Amino acid sequence: MTKPCIICVAITGSLPTKANNPAVPISVPEQVESTQEAFEAGASIVHAHVRNDDETPSSDPETFARLKEGLKKHCPGMIIQFSTGGRSGAGRTRGGMLPLRPDMASLSVGSNNFPTRVYENPPDLVDWLAAEMVEHDVKPEIEAFDLSHILKAKEMSDKGQLVGTPYVQFVMGVKNAMPVDRDVFDYYIHTVRRLFGDDAPWCAAGIGRHQLTLNDWAISSGGHARTGLEDNVRLDRDTLAPSNAALVRRAAELCAKYDRPVATPAQARDILGLAAA
Ligand SMILES: [Zn+2]
Repeated sequence: MTKPCIICVAITGSLPTKANNPAVPISVPEQVESTQEAFEAGASIVHAHVRNDDETPSSDPETFARLKEGLKKHCPGMIIQFSTGGRSGAGRTRGGMLPLRPDMASLSVGSNNFPTRVYENPPDLVDWLAAEMVEHDVKPEIEAFDLSHILKAKEMSDKGQLVGTPYVQFVMGVKNAMPVDRDVFDYYIHTVRRLFGDDAPWCAAGIGRHQLTLNDWAISSGGHARTGLEDNVRLDRDTLAPSNAALVRRAAELCAKYDRPVATPAQARDILGLAAA
């Protein structure tokens, strides 16, 4: 049997609104319902941001706590990953939910440009977020917007700032950051294997219409895949995605095409070195 593929669903993000796609879950009950449907379609990780009632991004630990409670109840065993990104400039409030001890949290280890601003991740904030994750037993997912971020993860791992084998996600197709480039993608894989070992798990995310491309590349190359309305609100140019689950089903179809079983939550926990649920 070939290696199971973990499908991560990024349900909300900090940018898309109901005006972009009415299926984007904003309130906690909407987020729980959307995640449950995606979970039943094969997602074993949920990557979550929370929002205020007016759809603006929030870092409110109390909202994260309500979300975690709902997800634990309705998606048993699913890996819960909270975002510590998305609110550039917000400083340490970005990590204010880490004491809730989600299974995982995203960790950006360097700065880069975003479509209309700088995504600021100053060294002292990166060090603090990483230390909080160690303190609260939260596994980081390293968001690699650039090659240097993979090498930074190696440095942090060597210094004991990251526990276990780093789980790196390649992010491609964010305007003004790393474009979707196959040679770079292949070199990212080569670099992860060289630094962390041939068996080190990695995943990839593509933004907008590139989501499907990155799903295809990652699944066919032995990596894990991220999908969801945070990164892309469309099925194709003319069709809005009806749900997060619809995007998960599309990734699961690619897994079938490349003969990769979709990882169960238990398999995903094993692959990532997380405790059983
Ligand atoms: Zn996110």
